[in-house]
Amino acid sequence: MSQQIYTFKTIVVGPAAVGKSSLIRRFVENKFSLNYKFTIGVDFMSKSIDFETGKSAKLTLWDIGGQDRFKVLRRSFYEGTNGAIGVFDLSRAQTFSKMKEWVSDARQTIETDFPVIIIGNKSDLIADVGVVIDRNEVKQFAEKEKTIYIETSAKTGDNVEEAFLELTKRMIKECS
Ligand code: GDP
Ligand code: MG
Repeated sequence: MSQQIYTFKTIVVGPAAVGKSSLIRRFVENKFSLNYKFTIGVDFMSKSIDFETGKSAKLTLWDIGGQDRFKVLRRSFYEGTNGAIGVFDLSRAQTFSKMKEWVSDARQTIETDFPVIIIGNKSDLIADVGVVIDRNEVKQFAEKEKTIYIETSAKTGDNVEEAFLELTKRMIKECS
């Protein structure tokens, strides 16, 4: 059986400090740090995933500084996108509507359709801060985007790999 190799550009979008860089780092290097390192402009990392089916996918993960002033970079940032992850912070309710703006901005800028996964990150903090978002509202948004909502923790690693794998499967489906 011949090996099928895909290369996918995946963008990770959402407001500042929701854990975009941390999720990528957890997925690629299986590491986490609580020290906040501001992402300036755009950052990249890549990781290959092998599927038992003889398929493998190389993801280039594009991480944009969530600050609005970097929105000017977005055209080149979005170019050639195959899939997206929209991230908000489960401990800060206002990050959900900001994440929605980033996703709709990407939809408006990118001419082709692409799969997206919605992530509520920092699930490890729920035990301390409680549930500050309306999960039904998040699920409704995910349904509108024909996708799923996953709660992750870049700190503990919970559901991180699952989220990236789910997106990868959807990107593969999109090209077959
Ligand atoms: P970005 O601006 O969206 O790239 O966010 P960062 O990845 O830089 O993370 C912002 C801050 O939140 C950092 O101090 C991280 O250590 C912290 N952080 C990220 N993910 C998690 C998580 O899942 N749980 C907790 N408790 N903190 C997190
Ligand atoms: Mg960052």
